[in-house]
Amino acid sequence: MQAMNVDLHCHSVASDGLLQPEDLLARAAAKGVDMLALTDHDETAGLASARAKAVSHGIRFVDGVEISVTWQGATIHIVGLQIDPENEALKEGLETLRSSRAVRAARIGEALEQAGIRGSLAGAMSYVGNPKIIGRTHFARFLVGIGRAPDVRSVFRRYLVKGTPGYVPHQWASLCDAVDWIRASGGVAVLAHPGRYKLGSAERRLLLAEFKERGGAAIEVVTGSHTPTQYGEFAKLAREFGLLASRGSDFHGDAGSRADLGALPPLSADLQPVWRDW
Ligand code: AMP
Ligand code: MN
Ligand code: MN
Ligand code: MN
Repeated sequence: MQAMNVDLHCHSVASDGLLQPEDLLARAAAKGVDMLALTDHDETAGLASARAKAVSHGIRFVDGVEISVTWQGATIHIVGLQIDPENEALKEGLETLRSSRAVRAARIGEALEQAGIRGSLAGAMSYVGNPKIIGRTHFARFLVGIGRAPDVRSVFRRYLVKGTPGYVPHQWASLCDAVDWIRASGGVAVLAHPGRYKLGSAERRLLLAEFKERGGAAIEVVTGSHTPTQYGEFAKLAREFGLLASRGSDFHGDAGSRADLGALPPLSADLQPVWRDW
């Protein structure tokens, strides 16, 4: 029997993806996805229409979110799955993060202005799909649009990461709060793309231990952000730390996405999938 094709991480125009939630579901169906979670950054506004569309495609839909967190000075992402988007604690937490994004965006605009790039805040706003969520991806798309760089990835490298002119430090939610909001809403907390963080191996183990201790349940093992070598590395860590494993493309709908919906390899058979009891 063919294993179920599960993709538990992707984005729509409700955050920094390019597709409407409905179009994302149509694409997931075309790609043979059986179970899909929509996990927009700090936002749940796309879930209702995605869920409605999933029904007509026969896809099992999972309500999700990807929460921005600051841990030991580093930005990390915690995915919540099977959340209740109507939960008050979660709603308030996400609302606070979204307002802080607006403040950060104004600062990014000023920083880029200092670097001789004018009008980037308004420019980035013209690329948002949801006025409540502005992020670096929208600045990046604007900068590509005005010809500052050939693609989003090079904009990040030249303008938006630490040590470059448009970088602005930012304080996101605490790890503890993010996991608490997810769990309060009945969801499961998953550490997103753990291989992407620039942490030494001792720090990485500390993160996994602390995440687990705070109530985190799973880590992404197979994700568009990991190399095949990292699939193995994080499979090992999931086993060692007694964490469930997740699989998600992190598809954003553009050429810059490293993996299409449902296109990654399956989880290694000896791992416990986060969806095992769903
Ligand atoms: P933000 O949450 O606004 O800081 O933006 C983070 C988002 O930017 C991530 O979810 C990715 O979609 C995108 N991103 C981060 N780093 C890169 C990169 N090096 N190249 C392309 N996109 C990136
Ligand atoms: Mn993103
Ligand atoms: Mn992420
Ligand atoms: Mn993501």
